[in-house]
Formats: sequence, C-alpha cells, structure tokens
Amino acid sequence: MRSGVEPPHSNRLSHLIWAGTQEEGIGMSSGVVFLVGAGPGDPGLITLKGLEALRGAEVVVYDALANPRLLREARPDAELISVGKRGGCHTMKQEEINALLVAKGKEGKRVCRLKGGDPFVFGRGGEEALALAQAGVPFEVVPGVTAGVAAPAYAGVPVTHRGLASSVAFVTGHEDPTKEASDVAWDRLATGVGTLVFYMGVRNLSHIVERLTTHGLAGETPAAVVQWGTVAQQRTAVGTLADIAERAAGMEAPAVLVVGRVVTLREELAWFERRPLFGRRIVVTRARAQASELCVRLEELGAEVLEMPAIRIEPPADWAPLDEAIARLDAYDWVLFTSVNGVDGFFGRLAIAGKDSRALPRVAAIGPATAESLVRHGIRPDCQPERFTGAELVAALAAHEALRGKRVLLPRAADVPETVRKGLEEAGAEVHEVDAYRTVVGGQPDAEIVSRLMAGEVDFVTFTSSSTVRGFVEAIGRERLAALPASVRLISIGPVTTQTARELGLAIAAEAEAHTIPGLVGTLLKLVSVR
Ligand code: SAH
Repeated sequence: MRSGVEPPHSNRLSHLIWAGTQEEGIGMSSGVVFLVGAGPGDPGLITLKGLEALRGAEVVVYDALANPRLLREARPDAELISVGKRGGCHTMKQEEINALLVAKGKEGKRVCRLKGGDPFVFGRGGEEALALAQAGVPFEVVPGVTAGVAAPAYAGVPVTHRGLASSVAFVTGHEDPTKEASDVAWDRLATGVGTLVFYMGVRNLSHIVERLTTHGLAGETPAAVVQWGTVAQQRTAVGTLADIAERAAGMEAPAVLVVGRVVTLREELAWFERRPLFGRRIVVTRARAQASELCVRLEELGAEVLEMPAIRIEPPADWAPLDEAIARLDAYDWVLFTSVNGVDGFFGRLAIAGKDSRALPRVAAIGPATAESLVRHGIRPDCQPERFTGAELVAALAAHEALRGKRVLLPRAADVPETVRKGLEEAGAEVHEVDAYRTVVGGQPDAEIVSRLMAGEVDFVTFTSSSTVRGFVEAIGRERLAALPASVRLISIGPVTTQTARELGLAIAAEAEAHTIPGLVGTLLKLVSVR
C-alpha cells in the first residue's frame, strides 16, 4: 500500500479485536460487524484498528467513498460487496444495507463495514448500528478521520486556531433550498461559531451563502472549497463568502466548504499542494509483482501515479540449466547477477538444491538494486560496476583480476544485452548464460489509462527497463503510439532502455542521469522545476 499502510509488527491488536466476540461464548453462530471509518481518501488515513478489522474480515461491505486501494488489504477469500456507486446508480438503499449487515452478522460472519471518513459523521453509521443493536448482532465502531477535518488540513487550513477560531461546526449542506423550515439553526451558526464546515454542499453553495449572509455573517469572511481532499486530485478554491460560489464554479462532489478566518492560514500552510510533483500525472510501466518503489516515491512527491503493468515476471521455460549450474557451482570463478529478478530466481533454486550463499564463488552485481538484493542473501558483491554496458563491466571485473580462462555464470533472462556476454568473451572469459526468470510482455492495458494518455492528460511515462518499453508498445499498439500527443514526455532510466525505445520508434524526452530509481525521480524533479 502506498501511503504508509504497512503490516503491523505484531498482531496483538487482532487479539484485542476478536477476543470477547469470538472466544468468550457469545455463541458459535454469532458474527460481529465492525463499522469502520476508512478515512477521506488517502488510504494511509485509515486507523490501525480499522485496518486490522479489514484484514480479518470474511465479508467487506464498502461505499464509493472508501478508497478502493484499501480493498487490497482484505483477505483474498473475503466476500467484497459494493453498496454504493458514485452518481447514484446501483446504490443500495439504506434499509437494504442495514438488512445485509444484520443477515451477514447472523450468519456468524466477521463483517467489516467500510465507510468513507468517519462512520458517525454524516455517514448513516448510526442507523446501521441501531439496526444491528435491535437485531442483537454484536458490533463495534472504529472511528475514522472525517473529511471535514482532513480535507481542510491537506489544504493547509486548521479548523481551529488560537486567536482565529475556538469552535467548529460540521453542517450538512444537503438541505433542499426550497424547504420552508430548516433543521439547521442558521442564525446561531452565522454568528456563534468560529469555523463552519459544510459537507455535501457544493451543489448548494449559493443557497448556503445566502442563508449565512442573511443571518449576519459578513460577506468578506474567508471561505474555501476543497474537492477530493487528501488524494492526488485535490483541488482548492479560495475566496470570501461573497465570491466563493463563483470561484468554485464547476467543482463537484465530494467537496467540503470551509468558512471562517482560519482559511487565511492556507497561504502559509498549503503543504500538500506545494509538493514538487503535485498535479502531475505519471504513468509507471512496471512488472506487476515488482516492488513499487518508484510509485511510492512519486506519490510522496505529490504525483498522481497511474500504474500500467507492462511485464510479468515468470519462471523460465525450463529450470534444468540453472539447476545443473547450481549443482556444480565450484566449476565457476564468478557468478554475475544483472537484476533483482535474476537474484530471486537463482536463490530460490539454490534453496531447493539444499544449498545457501556459502556455495557461491566470487560474485559481481550490476547496479545498486541488484547489489542490495544480494546483501539480503548475506552476500556483499566482490565487484559492482555501476553501468549496464559490456565495456564497463569488463573493465570493472578486469580491475579485479585477469579474466582470461575464467568461467563466469550469468543467471539472467533472455533480455540481457549481447554486449555483456561479448565483452566478457573478448576479455578471454568463458561465459555460461542460464535462464533464472522470464519476462512476459503485455497483458490487457487499462482502458482508462490508455484513453488518458491519448487525450494528453498524462505528463510523463517512465520506463525502467527494455522490457517495460516493449510491454508499453505492445499494450498501446503501434497505430495509437503514432498519435500519442507530444505533451506526453517519455522518460528512460538509462542508455539500454533508451536504445530499445529508439529501436521501437519511441521518442525519449529525457534519460535519467543516474540509472537508478532515485536517479529517475531526480530527473523528473529537474524537468518539472525548469518548466
Ligand atoms: N462520513 C463521511 C462523510 C460522508 S457524507 C466523513 O466523515 O467524511 C459525503 C460528503 O463528505 C461529501 O459530499 C463531501 O462533502 C465530504 N467528503 C467526503 N470525502 C471527501 C473528500 N475526499 N474531500 C472533500 N470532501 C469529502
């Protein structure tokens, strides 16, 4: 998970949660329903207790407002039930949701009812809890971070602040403006509260403004609308009560309206929207199972990351050549690793052969990521050339010892450049290449990402290897590629990747100075800062 949701180090909390519901004799058939606040959008804003309830659930019942990324945390065998879709279609009625929760609880299931923000703040969580209480189904409430606090916070607006606001009210903006009697005490709100936060009010902005000004709130009171708070698509409009409806024209739900002097603090505190890649859309082409280091870094810097899995890592067609090489490792002088996947494949088979890292001769690794993955197996490479070219590799190895007559094992995939083997052979080494994994190009492209690419809504596409380039070309198709808008800039991690892109007719706009993930990120940062 991107935004800091990591598995906790112990599962003590799960004991806390399940003790007393499962074990202490409520009865075999008795389930439990957790009403969990999922937070306002940023998946990192779910609470630890909420995450535990989600991970332990057999049934997850979720709304449109809960971040879909959180669903990846559910058990693979969990039943996932969507009860709300944006725009009102396919929405289950509240009574039906209540009945569903009661039924699943009575079946004896552990249910996580995942709700946007906080379950008890304009979330109808109270109604669900009442239905469960009345049916005698055990339930727990896990509060969440509510949008009325979080969206202003991410926009740089503290809802209370010494000297500016010592009280805050959360108000529904959903009221029908033609309704005669109002449930909202507009007169008291307008004059008696420091900060007002309206939920569900974007469509009603002018009505809300009219009510507040009629009841005595000054037109020059600062106001802001925050749409899609806490996620990469966050947008903020700032003005005064008098002009906020105009300034926020075109903004849609979900959004909160904040009214009060605290809004002025945004000028100094708008941290989220000031991150260097905020507002940039970046397509990351990568292997589905590969560590998402690049995605994490880009998101931390504020980018909206669109993941386009372009390649899959699979076992080679035949393990036999690698297994044979592993059986006689003492016949080699060097093992040369060219990628993390090669390391993973090799050590997987090494373990199956009943051996460990002590069985290896001298070890060379190309690139820091490969070297790091070796360290995780207890090996510090004897030699570590920085770049992925035959010449540099041979120079680095030769600096170590003469290569003439030396035997080098190269566990890799078919896509390692010829130059590596050739360079070694020219220096007199005997090279034995064996497959340690296979990259499978392609897969169904995500239709939405493709259409955003073609519409020019993407700023950058990043390539971290030749196979991601091939996967991208395959997924998009040559015809569409020819029509890719020039505003979409293609960025390559290094010379080999760039070369492959050129061969396939792609124009690379920039190549990373250091051929690593941090190097690629650094190049992106430079590109956006010169614009
Ligand atoms: N229980 C939720 C609120 C549900 S009502 C909570 O505690 O946050 C839905 C309203 O919440 C939306 O109309 C909008 O006003 C607000 N909202 C939810 N998510 C939001 C977000 N990411 N940014 C801004 N407003 C949001």
